[in-house]
Amino acid sequence: MSPVAVEAPASRIPEELTALKGVGPALARRLENLNVYSPLDLLFLLPLRYEDRTRLSRLGALAPGDRVVIEGEIELTDVVFRRRRSLLCRISDGTGLITLRFFYFSRKQQDSFGRGRRLRCFGEVRNGTDGLEMVHPEYRLISATQPPPLEQRLTPVYPSTEGLQQYRLRTLVGQALDRYLDKVPDLLPDDLRSELAAPGLREALEFVHRPPADADLAMLAAGCHPCQRRLAAEELRAHHLSLRRTREQTRAEAGIPLPVPKKLRADFLRRLSFSLTGDQQKVLRDIDGDLAQKHPMMRLLQGDVGCGKTVVAAAAALGAVAKGHQVAIMAPTELLAEQRRDSFGRWFKPLGINIAWLSGSLKKSARDLVYTAIADGEAQVIIGTHALFQQGLEYHRLALIIVDEQHRFGVGQRLSLREKGSADGEGPRPHQLVMTATPIPRTLAMIMYADLEVSVIRELPPGRQPVQTVALSDQRRGDIVARVRRACSEGHRAYWVCPLIEESDALQAQAAESTFEMLREALPGVSTGLIHGRMKAAMKESVMKAFAAGEHQVLVATTVIEVGVDVPEASLMIIENAERLGLSQLHQLRGRVGRGATQSTCVLLYHSPLSGLAKQRLAVLRETSDGFRVAQQDLRLRGPGEVLGTRQTGLMQLRVADLVRDADLAPLVQNAAGRMVGKNAGAGGPENASLLIARWLGQNSRYGSV
Ligand code: ADP
Ligand code: MG
Repeated sequence: MSPVAVEAPASRIPEELTALKGVGPALARRLENLNVYSPLDLLFLLPLRYEDRTRLSRLGALAPGDRVVIEGEIELTDVVFRRRRSLLCRISDGTGLITLRFFYFSRKQQDSFGRGRRLRCFGEVRNGTDGLEMVHPEYRLISATQPPPLEQRLTPVYPSTEGLQQYRLRTLVGQALDRYLDKVPDLLPDDLRSELAAPGLREALEFVHRPPADADLAMLAAGCHPCQRRLAAEELRAHHLSLRRTREQTRAEAGIPLPVPKKLRADFLRRLSFSLTGDQQKVLRDIDGDLAQKHPMMRLLQGDVGCGKTVVAAAAALGAVAKGHQVAIMAPTELLAEQRRDSFGRWFKPLGINIAWLSGSLKKSARDLVYTAIADGEAQVIIGTHALFQQGLEYHRLALIIVDEQHRFGVGQRLSLREKGSADGEGPRPHQLVMTATPIPRTLAMIMYADLEVSVIRELPPGRQPVQTVALSDQRRGDIVARVRRACSEGHRAYWVCPLIEESDALQAQAAESTFEMLREALPGVSTGLIHGRMKAAMKESVMKAFAAGEHQVLVATTVIEVGVDVPEASLMIIENAERLGLSQLHQLRGRVGRGATQSTCVLLYHSPLSGLAKQRLAVLRETSDGFRVAQQDLRLRGPGEVLGTRQTGLMQLRVADLVRDADLAPLVQNAAGRMVGKNAGAGGPENASLLIARWLGQNSRYGSV
């Protein structure tokens, strides 16, 4: 067998940025802010967008908003004091006029703008006080008889950082291209390269940094150019490989087998007021299978809101408890964690299992007690928020971590949690079960969750009727109040949700409060509760309990009730400002009703006029109650960063790839990845994988090391 083709190793490219001409330690440090640590990184610092400076625009043909190169002769230069002192310079080219406006300028600059001299500028055209103007254009004085040539290529615009100008970055990238491009190894295996039918790496890099003047700008802006796709495939593959590697490492680690004793499981199931659905049983078998192994489980449990993931998690936790180990259950919000505590309490206390509660709002004295109970093993099941993974908290024998509503935590937090899980010792690593109600299309899951096994619950518990969804203008609020009155008189309960209007807790609470007052007046004899994020946890809890117990018939709430809240008697849900919420969020909210046997209704109140996009969104909800379809549409309309929560955590931040646009690359990337990390990857395989991960994930390539 011939050895795998050895490509020029990256080591021929110097590691140090200072190897580049004009780069000293200070500039090198600035580049580090862009995650550029070496000349190779510069080649993979990809443009955000492009400007066309290859053409000269005539002044007579300009329109506001154009970003263009112009040229003209100076007619007039003047310093004016209207609202601010500014230098104005009027130029003309025989077809029209434009004013250049500078708020910051030097005497020297002013003097250089003499009448009759010629300027070439690049900037954005806008409407000014006296016709069109350009504010602080890039400019140079040029010779009228021998004007310098225009750019031959489109101009890339790079992500920038303070103290580092675009032209500087462009020059540096240019230098790196000239010197090192032909030394950059193409790390994709041949078969993937040919399946992609895309240009080679070097060609792709050259193109995205220096697109020819006739390149299709629209295509580039959309990220669909074959050269961009080539790079996107590499990037997706790097992420995928990195997560795969985590998975391989987990497989190789020691875990604690946690088989569930048959009798304990039977006792648990017997006490439930229902039997598990077929899907619940199936995923429980998956999980049981994992937990019986000698290496840690890493499983994602996906299932629509209300499908009954919690009870599956509880059934799975029994093995750990039976063996004298601890289980930690983490939920993203306090309210949700409280609900989990209540469910687990209901199910576990009769079995004599000891549950501990931990949240950020516990007083220090109370927290110390809980910490002690956790450290000495008295607490068997520990439920809470992020507080579960605070520093200083030591577990006695943590063997299983259950993360609820995973999508709220993002990729980064999920991975750091894994590190924390075993931070207390060299012992075996805990098993992990992560649960999410955000259904991720398979192609995306292949990449995002490559480190996890995936189980899906598609079936809802029997007897559930799909929630009827209507969209109404908020001018019909009066009719809706009447409807709530009717529902209450028939013994039903209703949620009235006042979601985010501004990015502020305070304003959100205010909106909820005024709705609360309005309803109290409009519904005499109906008991109405109010819950929002600014209330103390104890207060929220007592209101929630009163609603669950039927003491309140109407609950006015902010989006704090979004996930996991469970009151089967609630059959009417009104959502204000529905046009401003994302589809998945609306779907989650809607999932609070339709949990009992009564036909439930969800009213989406919107404020007219609706934008086209908002109309589409509301239509999706009216047409389907299938969370998978909702999520697909949400991805299409909003993009994955918003939907999956990767935007905030910034870890799966992609440079060229787009998880939706490039979803079709996922199968290719995944197949090739399998060959690469597998045993038969060939001599060059594993090294290539490491290089590829380092290239794209750079200093963030911690996926592989956790
Ligand atoms: P999820 O966490 O998946 O959104 P939950 O676990 O909160 O859903 O379950 C929603 C409700 O359905 C709970 O009241 C739960 O007790 C109930 N439930 C779960 N499984 C079943 C089942 N197989 N049959 C009937 N009700 C069930
Ligand atoms: Mg849930």
